Amino acid sequence: DHQILERLPDVAVHTYIDRVLLQPGTVLTGDNRFYSVFSPFKRRWLSIYEEHATGPFDVNGHGRESVKPSTWDPICNCPDSDLSLFSTTEASAHESLDEFIAQRLTDYEANRNNPSVLGTSRLSGALARGLLSPRQCARAAEIKLNRPIWEFPNHAFSWINELIWRDFYQHLLVGFPKLSKNKAFRPETESLRWRNDPSDIDAWKNGRTGIPIVDAGMRELVATGWMHNRVRMIVAQFLTKNLLCDWRIGEAHFMEYLVDSDLGSNNGGWQWSASTGTDAAPYFRVFNPVSQGETHDPNADYVTQFIPELASVPVKRRHAPWTATLPDQYPAPIVDLKSSRQRAIDAFKELKS
Ligand SMILES: Cc1cc2nc3c(=O)[nH]c(=O)nc-3n(C[C@H](O)[C@H](O)[C@H](O)COP(=O)(O)OP(=O)(O)OC[C@H]3O[C@@H](n4cnc5c(N)ncnc54)[C@H](O)[C@@H]3O)c2cc1C
Repeated sequence: DHQILERLPDVAVHTYIDRVLLQPGTVLTGDNRFYSVFSPFKRRWLSIYEEHATGPFDVNGHGRESVKPSTWDPICNCPDSDLSLFSTTEASAHESLDEFIAQRLTDYEANRNNPSVLGTSRLSGALARGLLSPRQCARAAEIKLNRPIWEFPNHAFSWINELIWRDFYQHLLVGFPKLSKNKAFRPETESLRWRNDPSDIDAWKNGRTGIPIVDAGMRELVATGWMHNRVRMIVAQFLTKNLLCDWRIGEAHFMEYLVDSDLGSNNGGWQWSASTGTDAAPYFRVFNPVSQGETHDPNADYVTQFIPELASVPVKRRHAPWTATLPDQYPAPIVDLKSSRQRAIDAFKELKS
């Protein structure tokens, strides 16, 4: 960009920060280092945001009207997917934002973890592709609630919190360049003995592991180019812990299929789930995909939507169909959840810290 500007001295160019709320490098510790833990990052982030709220955050003037509508080309490798759920123009992205703020922001906190309801904004594709800026998102919420974000009630702040996570992951990419070079944040995890069994990886990618919430998520990804956040965490932990496969395999697969594929958030999400990242899930706290499914998809609506062959299994057993009569078309689990969990914990224990 700098070189182009130098070569075109007569062309007026205006630049705006709109990919993030706060530019990487602006949220630093007292001794000018990048944060590697989210909570102190967030505290500092909020104090900076509050300081500047009336200045650089005013998006009027380079907001909606002045930006020409544009469309995106299909960007994910899912030719048979139905991408109609996601905005492909700036105008429709703004309509979706308005609709979310008007109708779903109030219940966001209550619904955000249930993949069977439309509880989150589903704006990640528009944000990742630049049809929408996170500043426009924060501003729209501030206008609706008629107050700045630091005075938001919990239910609404919880949504802003996700935008701050997004900023955190963009900061990490700049502060720790090794993250964009295929390296783990925690170097000691590089020697972890991943199994990387090709048939396990294949079953995971194709939604044929025999664990319904995992298979539903992987099928949703291919069918729609998107996956619910709670389910992303579940499938990522299943791949890296129960199947003991390198997080980079999952990261690459997500990058290929997601409409919202984004190096910072994807790498952050994978390294968090695999316990190789900054501020990551502790390695011994392994999600149990059956209880995760029962808690967050209590009526099994989500798994039934993407795995219709489970419809014959009683709802109460649908997250663990092997405890009932397994339908012919659906596989038995490819791994024992209890022993594979222990195998992962043992593999992490072997690492020298
Ligand atoms: C393994 C894994 C991989 C992921 N890969 C991506 C990715 O490639 N691209 C991507 O945008 N998000 C990624 N996420 C984060 C999150 O799953 C999605 O941003 C979220 O599901 C998008 O849905 P939404 O727009 O309805 O989010 P909402 O809940 O409405 O949140 C609003 C916005 O905040 C941002 N956001 C929400 N959750 C997170 C989060 N945990 N981390 C960072 N930003 C967040 C997104 O831009 C989102 O659109 C990943 C998470 C995991 C666990």
